[in-house]
Amino acid sequence: MFKKILIANRGEIACRVIKSARKMGIATVAVYSDADKNALHVEMADEAVHIGPPPASESYLVMERILDAVRQTGAEAVHPGYGFLSENPRFAEALAAENVAFIGPPTGAIQAMGDKITSKKLAAEAGVSTVPGYMGLIEDAEEAVKISREIGYPVMIKASAGGGGKGMRIAWNDDEAREGFQSSKNEAASSFGDDRIFIEKFITQPRHIEIQVLGDTHGNCIWLNERECSIQRRNQKVIEEAPSPFLDAETRRAMGEQAVALSRAVDYSSAGTVEFIVDGARNFYFLEMNTRLQVEHPVTELITGIDLVEQMIRVAAGEKLSIAQADVGINGWAIESRLYAEDPYRNFLPSIGRLVRYRPPAEHVSDTEIIRNDTGVYEGGEISMFYDPMIAKLCTWGPDRAAAIETMRNALDEFEVEGIGHNIPFLSAVMDHPKFTAGEMTTAFIDEVFPDGFNGVELPEAELRRLAASAAAMYRVQEIRDARISGTMDNHEREVGSDWVISIGGNDWPVTIEADRQGATVKFADGGAYRVTSDWLPGNPLAILSVNDERLVAKVERIPNGFRMRHRGADLRVLVRTPRMFELSKHMIEKIPPDTSKMLLCPMPGLMVSVAVEEGQAVEEGQILCTVEAMKMENVLRAERKGVVAKINAVAGDSLAVDDVIMEFE
Ligand code: ADP
Ligand code: ADP
Ligand code: MG
Repeated sequence: MFKKILIANRGEIACRVIKSARKMGIATVAVYSDADKNALHVEMADEAVHIGPPPASESYLVMERILDAVRQTGAEAVHPGYGFLSENPRFAEALAAENVAFIGPPTGAIQAMGDKITSKKLAAEAGVSTVPGYMGLIEDAEEAVKISREIGYPVMIKASAGGGGKGMRIAWNDDEAREGFQSSKNEAASSFGDDRIFIEKFITQPRHIEIQVLGDTHGNCIWLNERECSIQRRNQKVIEEAPSPFLDAETRRAMGEQAVALSRAVDYSSAGTVEFIVDGARNFYFLEMNTRLQVEHPVTELITGIDLVEQMIRVAAGEKLSIAQADVGINGWAIESRLYAEDPYRNFLPSIGRLVRYRPPAEHVSDTEIIRNDTGVYEGGEISMFYDPMIAKLCTWGPDRAAAIETMRNALDEFEVEGIGHNIPFLSAVMDHPKFTAGEMTTAFIDEVFPDGFNGVELPEAELRRLAASAAAMYRVQEIRDARISGTMDNHEREVGSDWVISIGGNDWPVTIEADRQGATVKFADGGAYRVTSDWLPGNPLAILSVNDERLVAKVERIPNGFRMRHRGADLRVLVRTPRMFELSKHMIEKIPPDTSKMLLCPMPGLMVSVAVEEGQAVEEGQILCTVEAMKMENVLRAERKGVVAKINAVAGDSLAVDDVIMEFE
């Protein structure tokens, strides 16, 4: 076995690999850019080597820098993680030339599968079912239109070198094919340095279900069941689970066997993933093979008990697989939520900045519940614009799907992230959605369920009442403390009133509170009483309460006369006022926010790529105004309504901050 390995990656995946190496008694070397000087993976590793400036193209993607770090530290093997150099056959070759093991598949397999066009042809030859489409390259937009018509709309326009949902567009008609071809080509060129495009049929009612495979260098190859990854936004996975609620044993086996057949066809070894698109009738079609450890591998580990990173290291060291196909079972259910630094309330645009507060729920393992959080960040650290916006992968396991979901709901409620925009409320909303809980999702789930974007969720009245009662009890605790601090009271808790009006989610509920040493009983004037107990103290941003013996977790923040409370995807202003204050408030005038409807504000920090209109030009609703690049994605900003451009404040090449006024309309 190796004595020392180098991890050519950063963030959560570098930390993840270090954990398994450490368990196996292998020393670890981290590499880092200037932006990652204080990163978690650097701290966790036994040694760390600086490899250059923040942009990945000048550090993590520079082979020679990584090779230098290997030479300098004497590492015997390199784990590439995912992304970066993980699917670069030249990197694996360069390591081989130095007699260093690549913890991944053989170069030939990476090469064969690295390209979507080539791999599709190979899969078809290996007897794997593939998506109908045109397997050649497409030269220009008019040819794209012609081929799309031949295949028949809707079609999927894809970059042959694509990955991570980038360089991909659905087209339903000629115009979209033309436009999609161009934007896929641009995105592919800037993300992968390879702008080859192909087109295939868009499978409707699609579910993304993928098979984990594991092979060794002695000719053994097995499949480790599936992961369902249908909850996607912009073809990027957001929530994954294992097993899939949609597969039956027969389909699972057929997919597993085809995945292994394809792996064998390219002499695959190490961990890999064969992705399929599955239609409503359980027909499945090969999409692509990822020749690396997959982001969502933890859910497979949780249901099979197999440490995939450990297996990859063993295989790279030449060991035979110690697991046979018959040893692989499915134990319980696992779910992964990807926490992204993106603001769900602003159309999920990337958010960067300092993690003022970062407190994940405690990881733990028991017979009925597992909470696992794979992360690469820490409180006080920075989410920079240079890398992937993923903050953490929160995984839960339970004996069945419902239990895994319930554990996830509570874990998300407990997860504290402050300082940057994040998608926790959105993840919570999905966990509570009846279609999700019924397991009835396709890759269109997010677009169908949130057609106008995400604007928070409306909680059912019963849940609002539980929150209202909690707010009343917490407010009372706070009032008593405030009174003590200001000296207006010496321990006579009676002086804090017992009649209040709680305003929450459009309701104004008069309540009375009866408190004792253990907690408070909150009685609603229109009926119903809630017993609230908790050890919450004023100033604590996380409240874990018991409301009528049921757990309630909420993030709380003090505001004048109440709290901002966040719970299960809802973000609420809860006011706790005396009946007199409540009456007076009815006569106050609400402050009106400034009118920004006649401006195009920059929704995220980024770089202006191009401006598509001129001052004085009339625009139609939906017309492209400009393109802003952020986190390697091109974001097309469109006119929200018909109008005339009065003033343009930015030109191509300008750096933009959030809320910068890009354009003004008449
Ligand atoms: P990437 O390399 O970006 O992961 P994939 O080819 O694996 O690209 O596709 C990513 C996602 O895009 C899939 O999970 C699926 O949701 C969607 N997708 C890709 N191809 C098709 C298709 N032909 N029909 C329907 N959806 C597709
Ligand atoms: P999956 O492994 O599930 O297919 P994704 O497709 O979402 O996951 O992400 C993997 C791809 O996204 C990589 O191939 C890479 O293009 C990009 N990516 C994601 N995270 C990172 C990262 N930390 N560093 C570099 N690239 C990343
Ligand atoms: Mg994919």
